[in-house]
Amino acid sequence: MKSRKHMSTKALPPIDTLAEGGNLQRTEALTRQADKFLAHRRPLGPLEYALSQSGFTVPKLAEQGNGCRIHDTLGNEFIDWHQGFGATLLGHRNSEVENAIREQLGKGVNLSASSSPEVEVAVALCDMIPSAEMVSFGKNGSDATHAAIRLARAITGREMVFTTEYHGFHNWSLASDPTCEGIPQRQRNLIRTIPYNDIEALEEMFREFPDEVAGLIVDPIRREIPNSDWFEGLRSLADRYGALLIFDEVVTGFRFSPGGVQELYGIIPDLTCVAKALANGMPLSALLGKRRYMEKLPQIYFGMTYRGEALSYASALASLNIYKREPVHEHVANIGTALRERFDILAAKYDIPTTLKGHPARMEVAFGCAGRISDLGIKSLFVQELVRNGIYSDGLFLPSYPMNEEVIELTATALDKTMGVVRAAKDCNTLEGFLVYPTSEDCYREA
Ligand code: PMP
Repeated sequence: MKSRKHMSTKALPPIDTLAEGGNLQRTEALTRQADKFLAHRRPLGPLEYALSQSGFTVPKLAEQGNGCRIHDTLGNEFIDWHQGFGATLLGHRNSEVENAIREQLGKGVNLSASSSPEVEVAVALCDMIPSAEMVSFGKNGSDATHAAIRLARAITGREMVFTTEYHGFHNWSLASDPTCEGIPQRQRNLIRTIPYNDIEALEEMFREFPDEVAGLIVDPIRREIPNSDWFEGLRSLADRYGALLIFDEVVTGFRFSPGGVQELYGIIPDLTCVAKALANGMPLSALLGKRRYMEKLPQIYFGMTYRGEALSYASALASLNIYKREPVHEHVANIGTALRERFDILAAKYDIPTTLKGHPARMEVAFGCAGRISDLGIKSLFVQELVRNGIYSDGLFLPSYPMNEEVIELTATALDKTMGVVRAAKDCNTLEGFLVYPTSEDCYREA
């Protein structure tokens, strides 16, 4: 049992300052109400999630966004490297997207029948994504992955699922997370997490359950660029063992290329899930795939009241047109590469063992730390200092289309200050006096 002796109670200056146009009283009132009335306990945005384990909260509520910047209710401006969990690939308030939504608003929001934009988005997706022959829509990424797994089970008559990491909040997926409560044990027995980028180990798993796996669902590129044989290996193992290969391109879709990772690597999965950038922040997801499988969709009752909601289709259509017409994925990859270069130089300057892992369009900070402070503790401090310096990130760096050289410069300046503080904390071997909010025991390693 770790001791709590490291709990820091030292008062540092509050993290928030009131900028012009900000409203302190309103913010404090809203924050109190959020704490009291929002059951999901994430009223303060994604940073709270990253830092909740260290007791750190970011008392900011977003007021508005524009391009790659957001403002909080205190009037502070941040460069938004989070971009709505990666959804707003074109940035906040892209004018073409916004006009399309406005135009549709004048025609009605939920018209009780499929609308023309719904059909047009389906056609555009089949044109853009290599594995798409038919499409169905949901609202969240979780809807699409949930339907994909139920469809794979219906088609194969099997129940076991092989998975990579997070694929949504439904039982079948969170069954792989032992810390999530309320999941029936039977569901937990039906899921196995595969080792990423290790075909031999995956084959070993298939050998253990040769006739039981309904689907192999993978988030194709998360923290690591896989070996060249990985995707072909997935395809051939799925075929050999009679499982459906499902690409969860909820994050990678449109961001890595208009046709997603499958287009980049020339691999055709049986089913694919996209969401997030599909409608640039509006709630829309899609399950798509080979006709012979998708035709079975009515048998799994993938239905919902809000499928007809037309603003999201209008937004998707405008977004897809931009992805087709403009070099969006190349630009965000260039931005990611430029940031990573600056990041590496600063990490060397301060001698901090850290990198931005993953594809340049989807990077995540990773610390390899020695000493008393744990990786979580360092990450908490890192995020705190970035926020103080006007950078909104929970450790994920998801570049967006409006980002430019100036944004890289501002981010590098903030990173410079941030890494300076991290260096100082490491030298002192404590977070005491560095983290504003009390640190939890998880911020330190076992003695
Ligand atoms: N798959 C992946 C890879 C994700 O990252 C997420 C959410 N971030 C989901 C599925 C679920 O999407 P949603 O939150 O829209 O339900």
